[in-house]
Amino acid sequence: MARRQIIIVGGGFSGASAAVQLVRKIADPLAVTIVEPSPVIGPGLAYSTDDPSFRLNAISGVHSIDVADPGHFTRWCEDQGLMGSDPEARLPNGEAFIRRRDFRRYLAETVQSHALQPNGSTITHVRSRADDLHLMDEGVEVSLDNGNSIVSDAVILAVGNAPLRRPDWTKGGTEGHPGLIPDPLRRGLDTIKPDARVLVVGAGLTALDIIASLLARGHSGPIKAISRRGLRPQPQAPRIFAPQADPPEPPVVPLDLLEGELPDYAAAESLTALRLLRDMRRHAAETKADGLGWQAGFDAVSLPLSRIWPRLPVEEKRRVLRHLRPFYDAHRFRTPPMTDLAVQASEGSGQVSFRKAALDSLDTQPDEQLVANLRMADGQVIPETFDAVINCTGFDTSRAIRHNPILDSLHDQGMISPHPTGLGIVTDAENRVLAPGGASIPQIRAIGPITTGVFGDPLGVFFISAQIHRLIPGLARDLDVKLLS
Ligand SMILES: Cc1cc2nc3c(=O)[nH]c(=O)nc-3n(C[C@H](O)[C@H](O)[C@H](O)COP(=O)(O)OP(=O)(O)OC[C@H]3O[C@@H](n4cnc5c(N)ncnc54)[C@H](O)[C@@H]3O)c2cc1C
Repeated sequence: MARRQIIIVGGGFSGASAAVQLVRKIADPLAVTIVEPSPVIGPGLAYSTDDPSFRLNAISGVHSIDVADPGHFTRWCEDQGLMGSDPEARLPNGEAFIRRRDFRRYLAETVQSHALQPNGSTITHVRSRADDLHLMDEGVEVSLDNGNSIVSDAVILAVGNAPLRRPDWTKGGTEGHPGLIPDPLRRGLDTIKPDARVLVVGAGLTALDIIASLLARGHSGPIKAISRRGLRPQPQAPRIFAPQADPPEPPVVPLDLLEGELPDYAAAESLTALRLLRDMRRHAAETKADGLGWQAGFDAVSLPLSRIWPRLPVEEKRRVLRHLRPFYDAHRFRTPPMTDLAVQASEGSGQVSFRKAALDSLDTQPDEQLVANLRMADGQVIPETFDAVINCTGFDTSRAIRHNPILDSLHDQGMISPHPTGLGIVTDAENRVLAPGGASIPQIRAIGPITTGVFGDPLGVFFISAQIHRLIPGLARDLDVKLLS
């Protein structure tokens, strides 16, 4: 049999993990091609930063490129001597929160080290953007922005996050203003003077990373962070800060965490958003009282969410997204302890403050200052002057399909359908995309953030890696290739 060809569109974490897991888990030789415009495989938006203050938001053990080999990343860190060269990464319990730039190196090196397998499987990087896709009598043709096209037996769409949100106040008169940073993950913070008065709009993980980075640079000016609901990411569980207890027996490996038993209430027949929330809060209060922290009760639902979320009716999903998503996010996306401690210390001194407010509009001044019209919780609009305003408002999920030429084309050809929650596209349980009438297209699978509507939270490395692990047997069946036993 000729080598099966698989094209992966997108070379961020999802594309890198898919390529590596495919060649590790399928016995027959495969030719895997990653189409990615960037020169390196792995970084995507999340890991392209060089900023040493930006760390992974969870321990190394859940950041393996292959969820079935949970120690893979930790072993790499040890081989690289990272625990010695970056001693701050280590916590008293022995867990480590590694810098995101080191994780980027891990991804690139791991893809490279899997590029040629003893069975003849290969991983190749084609540096281009995939603009279009057509089904052929046999296989799929993908057109690239350099005018070439490549064919394969199957395609995996790993196109990542929606574009960053650009609120109105980043456009018009303020566009290009030296004090306005609309995309801090791309542009960096070098233009901000140490004594600048800084407004951070949004108070999620990126906002906390930005604040920690400013502080690490010796920033002395005041920093105010605002968010509509006054929420901010919560800290990690107390066990993270405690010296190592006896390891559980048998050890809990990440896949067990995702596939273990569901709490009774989450396994109930008719699930509603309200009931789930009420029971989850009760459970979290119990685990807090037991000294495990509320995090344990919360994780009992958030870790296996991909098995709970699909059982919620669409209307209930919408209800969660409308009312509960900000609260879910604040508890799910927890701050790395180092970031948390740095930010808390500066809050204590009054340099950093968090407020419940929204930025209504932004006015420029002749002296390069920016006046932010802040709508406070009581509805009052109060103007306040800043030297720098940083947009940390996250992704614009409403533009997930239309901003990407290949998704746009698939949508126009009637091969993908937007998820009714507005989050990404519809797939079946094995990630095959579904056309508007519900027919599955076995040659095309989608993974990662674009599948959020279907799986609930395929956003972190751990969840994406597990999603890929789960889809491989079905893909092997569709391609008529054997899995390694
Ligand atoms: C700032 C930030 C920090 C994060 N930190 C963590 C963390 O510490 N731990 C964690 O578990 N998760 C973290 N995440 C979650 C993160 O979303 C995932 O870890 C992961 O990066 C998602 O990977 P991805 O490959 O799906 O998407 P992306 O990283 O967005 O990569 C998508 C890639 O697809 C390419 N692409 C898109 N369209 C095309 C096309 N048409 N043709 C060719 N290529 C295309 C893009 O160039 C890009 O390289 C973080 C996310 C962000 C934004």
